[in-house]
Amino acid sequence: MTFAIKITCPRCQSRFPLGKPVNLCPCGSPLWVEYDLKKIKRRLKKAHLKDRPATLWRYREFLPLKSDKNRVSLGEGFTPLLDAPRLAAEFKLKRLWVKDEAENPTGSFKDRGLAVAISLAKELGIKKVAIPSAGNAGSSLAAYAARAGIEAHVFMPKDVPRANIAEVEQYGARLTLVDGLINDCGRIIAERKESEGWFDVSTLKEPYRLEGKKTMGLEIAEQLDWKLPDVIIYPTGGGTGLVGMWKGFAELEAIGWIGARRPRMVSVQAEGCAPIVRAFRSGKETAEPWANAETIAAGLRVPQAVADFLMLRVLRASGGTALAVSDAEMVSEIRRAGKLEGLFFCPEGAACVAALKRLAAQGWIKPSDSVLLFNTASGLKYLDALG
Ligand SMILES: *Cc1c(COP(=O)(O)O)cnc(C)c1O
Ligand SMILES: [Zn+2]
Repeated sequence: MTFAIKITCPRCQSRFPLGKPVNLCPCGSPLWVEYDLKKIKRRLKKAHLKDRPATLWRYREFLPLKSDKNRVSLGEGFTPLLDAPRLAAEFKLKRLWVKDEAENPTGSFKDRGLAVAISLAKELGIKKVAIPSAGNAGSSLAAYAARAGIEAHVFMPKDVPRANIAEVEQYGARLTLVDGLINDCGRIIAERKESEGWFDVSTLKEPYRLEGKKTMGLEIAEQLDWKLPDVIIYPTGGGTGLVGMWKGFAELEAIGWIGARRPRMVSVQAEGCAPIVRAFRSGKETAEPWANAETIAAGLRVPQAVADFLMLRVLRASGGTALAVSDAEMVSEIRRAGKLEGLFFCPEGAACVAALKRLAAQGWIKPSDSVLLFNTASGLKYLDALG
């Protein structure tokens, strides 16, 4: 059973029924799922979580799937929240945690969103799905679609990490390599989806990947005994994680499990593709597309995001900030994290370490602040970039 009650538009407040596939609101905004939080509050107690499986499905009251029979799972979520004392000491921090998303089934946190989206696709009777991907989302979609017996079409830039190509092929999805970026891939799907009968699972163009990513916020709260850190540093591409965690925190507050205090949310992008940073810095409510996007952090090579305005709202509402770091900084932070903590960071995760270094040096992050940063995928997926 689900406690989801409706799908709404956060921009124009239009309502859509559950139980039918939806993409963007006609106004152009992403849509999201709303829950009967009063009912969740009455029915669910923190103690209930104790005996539940160590996957994101432990939060099933906060997920939109009606029947557990439709759950398509490979064991995603409930990743370790690791203390990183040696890395913390480098930046003179009292407390630093790494949320290690490399431990998801296909080695990246894209699994969270696609586990939930493909479960919903199965429940809604969808037979064919298509995704534009900068790399890891294609791998995740291919894996979950295979497990569900759904036909998957993956469109990726032709220069994505080699691992992503191999994964998509081994999971049996139809792969098209495109001479362009993720937005060009998205355009091809938009043109063909109607005639091909594909359901479009692009980032935030359907409401369920967001719900899967939201569980990162629920997990952080549970793993820190319902006391959120002072600062969360997140490598931002399409923004599902940033927007999702924020939604999760609001839902936890509504059921009384956390208070009104929120972490300052930090968005990290690559110097070669930083549309959200530029918009944040110039006080804009939406972001202009980034020209000639280039970075080894494939997940950050997103020149334009439909949820730009939602990300910018979260950064500002939280008293957070946005900054861009170079590929060279990412490469050296991969080494530092590897050597100090025994973790093989992906470039996107290493971008968070580089951001932490800079924010600590500037005094924006104080030694007394507790900081959580994400390693969003395994460094093993990026061997070609690390040479
Ligand atoms: C997709 C991706 C990101 C960006 O995540 P969004 O939620 O789309 O902002 C960061 N890191 C990795 C490894 C990714 O695959
Ligand atoms: Zn709308």
